[in-house]
Amino acid sequence: MELSFWEKESYFSHVDVLIVGSGIVGLNAALYLKTQQPALKVLVVERGLLPTGASTRNAGFACFGSPSELLDDLSHHSEEEVFALVERRWRGLQRLRQNLGDQAIDFHRWGGYELFEESQQPLYEACLEQMTYLNKQLQQVTGEQDIYRQADHKIGEFGFKQVAHLIESTAEGQIDTGKMILALTQKVQALGVIVLNGLEIASLQEESAGITALTKQGIAITARAALVATNGFARQLLPQLQVAPARAQVLITKPIPDLRFKGTFHYDRGYYYFRNIGNRVLFGGGRNLDFKTEETTEMGLTNLVQNKLDELLREVILPGTPYEVEQRWSGIMGVGSSKTTIVQPVSQHICCAVRMGGMGVAIGSLVGEEGAALVLEKL
Ligand SMILES: Cc1cc2nc3c(=O)[nH]c(=O)nc-3n(C[C@H](O)[C@H](O)[C@H](O)COP(=O)(O)OP(=O)(O)OC[C@H]3O[C@@H](n4cnc5c(N)ncnc54)[C@H](O)[C@@H]3O)c2cc1C
Repeated sequence: MELSFWEKESYFSHVDVLIVGSGIVGLNAALYLKTQQPALKVLVVERGLLPTGASTRNAGFACFGSPSELLDDLSHHSEEEVFALVERRWRGLQRLRQNLGDQAIDFHRWGGYELFEESQQPLYEACLEQMTYLNKQLQQVTGEQDIYRQADHKIGEFGFKQVAHLIESTAEGQIDTGKMILALTQKVQALGVIVLNGLEIASLQEESAGITALTKQGIAITARAALVATNGFARQLLPQLQVAPARAQVLITKPIPDLRFKGTFHYDRGYYYFRNIGNRVLFGGGRNLDFKTEETTEMGLTNLVQNKLDELLREVILPGTPYEVEQRWSGIMGVGSSKTTIVQPVSQHICCAVRMGGMGVAIGSLVGEEGAALVLEKL
């Protein structure tokens, strides 16, 4: 399609910053740019009709690490690195809430829990042994005492089976992911950011005074600088980056009268996670059953993962409770060999902010800002 003069002028000319991807990171980058320099022309392009990665498809846990996750991280990273990441997640969540307000994102601090089966007794004991230490470290980050505590007495109340122990995390919360991304989109649009959906960047080229982006739809966009915020899809534009796609599958039940629990729940070292959404249950995970198949940029469901989710829902989470599964879907994350994000310049006028892992709800607001701050240096 040929563009009119008006279309070219209004949408695609004199762009200061082109942001590729309208997930939580891309939109937060746009928010930061417009707050810092309101006169900038910021264009966000999104290839999907909606954001089509992870930001509208996730579980909405406002979490910063369960005890076994932190112990696992401590076995691979230094103490400093581990708690710096916890702090980033904590600060990121505060920023998300400040930016949008708790009501707009339906934030609730109903606590989080880690479940342990009988066969995970050694892991549970290791968590207990380190609980005082972890709580001290967390107190330095959050200012709150005794965030982790034993909660075995709640197993019966919640109605779980095959669960031997529970550890509660009093500072964990949950959000409504759909409301969050909608509020964020509306906020940046109100500030004058142009968000275009259905436009896919096929290539980015460096020019002497900026960049040219070619779209699959045949439109060329020139800008003074660009930020790539495409997370799990990053290598399609920047093949040199160490980011692998990782699909995550979830399901949601129909409303369950008298659902017995509220909160966010981590199970089997975090490979499974579930929460209430009102009186429904959202349940996801099982990527560890077949990492190879799930290393894909294609949305989709597999019987292997979905059958396991069904089994655990029936036997562990809602035993004896009648329920129906209403819907199933998947999302694509961006992961790497370590849990660090990649926020860096990739050439003279192009930067990237990618590799959020399973933490983008928590850190996405900050990572967007960090990416935008790098871009400002390029202008
Ligand atoms: C099922 C699931 C559950 C999760 N649960 C949680 C949780 O509870 N808590 C938590 O903190 N995190 C969770 N996450 C992770 C979190 O959702 C992500 O880390 C976060 O959304 C990543 O945001 P992003 O903006 O970096 O990427 P995305 O949201 O993936 O955004 C990237 C966007 O770029 C677009 N795009 C890609 N290529 C192009 C192109 N060439 N041109 C134009 N647009 C392009 C994509 O369509 C996409 O919309 C979960 C993820 C999934 C999938």
